[in-house]
Amino acid sequence: MRLGTRIRLYITVMTVILIISVNIFVYVLFKHFSIASELNQLETRSINIIEEIKQSDNRTNEEIMNNGYILSDGYISVVNKDDKPIVNFTTNVDYNNIQQPFQSKQYKKTVAYKGYHFAMISLPIVWENGDVVNLQLYENVDFKYESFQILKWILIGSVILLLLVIFYLNRVITNIITQPILKLSKHIKETQETRDYQPVEVQQNDSYELQELSTSFNDMMNKLQEHDERQQAFIMNASHELKTPITVINSYSQMLQRFGKKDKRTLDESIHAIGDEAKKMKYLTEQLLFYAQITKNKKENNLEYENIVDLIEEITHRLKHVYEQDIKVEVSCETTEAWLDIALFKQLIHIFLDNAHKYGESLIVVKISDNKDSFKIEIIDDGIGIPETDLPHIFTRFYRVDKARSRGTGGSGLGLSIAQEIATQQNIMIEVTSKVNFGSTFVLTVPKGVKNETSL
Ligand code: ADP
Repeated sequence: MRLGTRIRLYITVMTVILIISVNIFVYVLFKHFSIASELNQLETRSINIIEEIKQSDNRTNEEIMNNGYILSDGYISVVNKDDKPIVNFTTNVDYNNIQQPFQSKQYKKTVAYKGYHFAMISLPIVWENGDVVNLQLYENVDFKYESFQILKWILIGSVILLLLVIFYLNRVITNIITQPILKLSKHIKETQETRDYQPVEVQQNDSYELQELSTSFNDMMNKLQEHDERQQAFIMNASHELKTPITVINSYSQMLQRFGKKDKRTLDESIHAIGDEAKKMKYLTEQLLFYAQITKNKKENNLEYENIVDLIEEITHRLKHVYEQDIKVEVSCETTEAWLDIALFKQLIHIFLDNAHKYGESLIVVKISDNKDSFKIEIIDDGIGIPETDLPHIFTRFYRVDKARSRGTGGSGLGLSIAQEIATQQNIMIEVTSKVNFGSTFVLTVPKGVKNETSL
């Protein structure tokens, strides 16, 4: 059901119930008090008659009644214990036999008789002969019932009128509420179809809620746009990175087709080149897959309480042989254990050592120290260094300081962005200082961590 229809329905149903209840209440109250005032007047008159009967010696009760109660439009009777009228006076013959049953107590009520409405009161009195009888007075109150009828129609009319007004106001109010929402949803649909991330205008006279909604929508649009652009850039960069080795492989295979089979030198060169490029492609696709995987599984940490020094020494020991280069590890720690995702931590250290090897000269030093809450790991090389202007960008995907050199070393431009992603997930801080032709130092601050806190 549409929001507008729902609001209209709720408001209409609620106001109908409210107005009808109020009107019924007013009607019943008015009727009650009008009748009550008639009955009270009758009561006063009947008491007067009884007083006169008590005080008078020379007039018969009948005479007193006839004079004491001047009937404008009504009926008066004295009813004995057998419910038979002993005396009665009437202004209209239609009212004859209206009398109500004898009761030993006083009572008053309204009586409907032959289409007429009466207010009546019955009081027990002692008659001339000593019998207890009921003095009953009836007053025609049809004029009251006519006014009740009029009131009823006025109230019904006012309900209908009010409903019409409410229906109209409802339309206006729901339009005020829903129009901007409809505008916003139309805009969202258009954005969905065209994929141009146009923000919605936040109008000053919009309601607070709508302004909030529009602002959130715009924020979301910006994020989506950024994400989309990053995705595009990622695809373009990745395909660009893959294109170079593919082009090289392609040209060597063409060369092989033309001369290679006969010329041994060309054959050897081509086989090597194709092998190298295939290796680079393999490395690049592995990095791409790893990057995709790590950015996808953001929260799945497998934390273990491990000796960080042992871990680093294990990695450096292995890489020393692979690089055929010395890696010095200097340890000055009070404690050695930390909560770590071991696989990710190894990957992180591996990336920095790999870069220190690729862009370094002769020596790589790893310094490990600690304070109360964290370990400080410095990976120092004496290589080409990074120009100051490039430093802010080196963690960007596919960014390379020197493309030609980096390609020569077999880099993918993804290493540091993977490192940054791992570091963010593990609450590790990375800092870098570097001087061109002197070398670079990457400093990692690794929190020792508490299992419950870090495994969240
Ligand atoms: P790559 O796979 O190309 O090494 P990275 O993301 O690991 O990509 O590094 C990005 C760039 O930062 C590198 O291309 C390189 O120019 C520069 N860089 C990273 N580490 C070092 C270092 N230790 N010394 C000099 N330059 C470095």
